[in-house]
Amino acid sequence: MLTKDDHLKAVYSSDIDTFLAKLEVLEQFNQGKFTCKYCKEVITRNNLYAIIPMPDKNVDMCCNRPDCVLSLSEEAK
Ligand SMILES: [Zn+2]
Repeated sequence: MLTKDDHLKAVYSSDIDTFLAKLEVLEQFNQGKFTCKYCKEVITRNNLYAIIPMPDKNVDMCCNRPDCVLSLSEEAK
């Protein structure tokens, strides 16, 4: 099982497509079906900051707006 830190690292480090494919959400992502969990902005490769896998196999995503990044880091404490 991954920790929250591992999730964040996985996204920072690298191949977002591989990561999303592993979570079986790559197609949905490419269709613009994910929104920031905080501001509801549609997530693209340009504004993706973090992917947060949820226990129910869904994923939350966070955009790179400073407000949202701050909210995410507060939550990860
Ligand atoms: Zn946001």
